[in-house]
Amino acid sequence: MGQIRDLFIPRRPPAAKYDQIRLDRTKIHEGHLILVNRQHPVKQSGTGPNLLPVSAVQAVQLPGAEISLEKTCLERLGALLHACRARDRIVIVSGYRSKKEQEELYETSLQENGAVFTASYVARPGESEHQTGLAVDVGENAGDVDFICPSFPDYGVCQTFKQLAAEYGFIQRYKADKEHITHIACEPWHFRYVGYPHSAIIEQRGFSLEEYTEFLKQYTFDRGHLFMETDRSLIEIYYVPAEQGTTAVPVNPAARNNLSGNNQNGFVVTAFHPKGSEDRGR
Ligand SMILES: [Zn+2]
Repeated sequence: MGQIRDLFIPRRPPAAKYDQIRLDRTKIHEGHLILVNRQHPVKQSGTGPNLLPVSAVQAVQLPGAEISLEKTCLERLGALLHACRARDRIVIVSGYRSKKEQEELYETSLQENGAVFTASYVARPGESEHQTGLAVDVGENAGDVDFICPSFPDYGVCQTFKQLAAEYGFIQRYKADKEHITHIACEPWHFRYVGYPHSAIIEQRGFSLEEYTEFLKQYTFDRGHLFMETDRSLIEIYYVPAEQGTTAVPVNPAARNNLSGNNQNGFVVTAFHPKGSEDRGR
């Protein structure tokens, strides 16, 4: 993956020829960067996320669990677990939940744990990141694993997982110092896939996903883009507000472009330029 050397260098987009991809406004609810919380419920349309069973990357599962995750999220999680040499020492406790499953979990928690606990740790149906397939709860595989609050300590293989997570596109979504923003209590076990380099920027800047979503809005296509350099590529990030009907999103055809809605009001383009191409057209 390589270290980010020059982080946050806003500059004018290069004079490259941009193509346009036309996206319907409903597409703002899809992609790896969607913000899901109380104000921004899940609104994925059609068939929902592209899911794969967790058994594709990890043999160890809780008894009876049939867990699945969004395809890219699962692939990167598999690579992260491999890099940590976690094998059976970290267990995937929860992944994708349908709205119905979230409703059942919420109701069960209300009955068993009460309203205060539930409000702190269980998102209301429709407002859970788990409904996107981009959130995963992981636990230390040590005896009984709590389904809602698995143990994920700051030492050993769990600590290694935390240290490497951003490199593989994951963030710890609910941190103690962001509770006033997320309205969810600190959850050391809940990781959200947002994709690299967004995970690295969020980690380095100490953002919550709410703050990062706002931060990106200053880098509109017409103004300065966010550029950063890694060992492998030059990465360019910019934001395109969504129009009412369809939006023409400019993309550089020479780059590998990743488009995501923010589940709010626009699209984020992440363009990966092959190393060595960055001087052309500047
Ligand atoms: Zn979770």
